[in-house]
Amino acid sequence: MNTPEHRTVIVVGGGPAGLPFAPVLGGWHPFFHASNVLQARYPQIADMFRQHTDSLLSLDMESMLHSGIPPADLFRVLHHPRQLYEGGDQIALKFRQQDPIDFLLLTQERVGGLWNNVPENLLTLSPGQWMEFAFHSLAEHVQETGKSYNVNDLIIKHRLIDYYHRIPERFGVADRVREWTRVTRVEPHEAGFLVTAVNVSDWSQRDPVTLRRPPFPESDDELTGEVQQYTCKYLVYAVGQRSKLRRLEVPGEDLPFVTQFYEKAQDLPGERVVVVGGGRSADWAATELHDAGRHVTYVMRQSRDLHWGLINQSRGGLPYYKRIAEILEGGSERLETVYDTSLTSIEAIDEGDRGVVTMASGDDTRQIEVDHVLKEIGGSADYSLLQGFEQPLQLVEKHDTYRFQVHQAKVHPHSYESIDIPNLYPGGYLAEGLGLVVIAMHGTTYAIVADILKKEGML
Ligand SMILES: Cc1cc2nc3c(=O)[nH]c(=O)nc-3n(C[C@H](O)[C@H](O)[C@H](O)COP(=O)(O)OP(=O)(O)OC[C@H]3O[C@@H](n4cnc5c(N)ncnc54)[C@H](O)[C@@H]3O)c2cc1C
Repeated sequence: MNTPEHRTVIVVGGGPAGLPFAPVLGGWHPFFHASNVLQARYPQIADMFRQHTDSLLSLDMESMLHSGIPPADLFRVLHHPRQLYEGGDQIALKFRQQDPIDFLLLTQERVGGLWNNVPENLLTLSPGQWMEFAFHSLAEHVQETGKSYNVNDLIIKHRLIDYYHRIPERFGVADRVREWTRVTRVEPHEAGFLVTAVNVSDWSQRDPVTLRRPPFPESDDELTGEVQQYTCKYLVYAVGQRSKLRRLEVPGEDLPFVTQFYEKAQDLPGERVVVVGGGRSADWAATELHDAGRHVTYVMRQSRDLHWGLINQSRGGLPYYKRIAEILEGGSERLETVYDTSLTSIEAIDEGDRGVVTMASGDDTRQIEVDHVLKEIGGSADYSLLQGFEQPLQLVEKHDTYRFQVHQAKVHPHSYESIDIPNLYPGGYLAEGLGLVVIAMHGTTYAIVADILKKEGML
């Protein structure tokens, strides 16, 4: 094995939580910019910063918190003083290039995180500009790339991923970003942390449709690439909420007609599909497959009331919820919802191309023949990479009204540093108390970088 390469900061994970660290650690720091919208809506905040000419990273985040403004919320308000975007001047932040700090970002797929692998036509739940980073508005990206779309509309996957993919080059930090690098262990070291990573660039060529899951390794047994070790003083742990895909744990779940990757209906030819799940991804797939002519049996462990709670809450604002409500209320024979039910086994028939799914609800069991089984059962944040620390991370469970759930790590609320492992920062909403959407978590980037730069005497 090579000698460990030392970096001051290592970021693990290049999704919407980890990726913005690259420009900000690379020296792009936020300064206050007078905004009429901020002045009108949050006059106390606008007045507080009117005279502030230093980088906002130099703020005393602990006092801000004590005066009732958590740093993530402060940066959110400066970035989004209102929900609608009408022009760059409303953003009360301007970014200027300052001294960078030595860092590397390691991520096992392309930057942009789970957005690389969501369905081709998936729309966000919120306006496109809520997914942007404060240092580069989506409107700016649209203009610079000669595109034309409304940043206040829900944004489709390929537009969002184009935005994320362009960030490293656009901010001159591409040489600090190592894609297709899977971190397998983070351990204590006299320098701070010892990070073991494996080159997984051979996975970049794998087809997720054939693979039947997103194209990155799921376990160390699948790793064959070169191992590289790094040491660092600070570590941002931004592996996201799906770094470990959930399993049904039933016989037959790895058969070739069972998949955990859904991009588009054409990838699931044939007639009958069982969709297993019950959250937003499953709703999306069941609706789209139905509209592509498939006969869908949609199996959920949850009750009818719970599912309809989500549909009714979402049908006003989200087009695909309007559509699923329309299909179900219209009584389409090609979308059957089966509630309070679990899959118990999957068996192959017809030389393995198709199968029989057995499901159970209480004492009742039922079997159906299918061409495909689509598992849309989500994943969980993987904290198991952290090994050998005196104090394990204390985790708390977080749910939101959109049915996302994740285990968050306890942190100091002014710096988002772990209370258990000094100099380790859970990235994005892996930190306790954060809302499970990009607009709620993005502000932590600035508080974390501020904390690191202060410790390094760079502010
Ligand atoms: C279907 C779906 C729709 C959503 N819609 C919205 C929405 O509309 N609006 C919104 O704000 N949020 C939405 N979310 C929430 C979503 O989680 C965020 O948008 C965002 O992607 C989370 O960013 P993240 O960086 O924390 O995690 P991720 O996007 O998961 O990124 C983490 C990255 O780290 C990588 N990684 C993990 N482990 C390792 C390792 N060991 N070594 C190296 N790299 C690793 C992962 O492969 C991934 O690339 C949605 C989520 C889902 C699942």
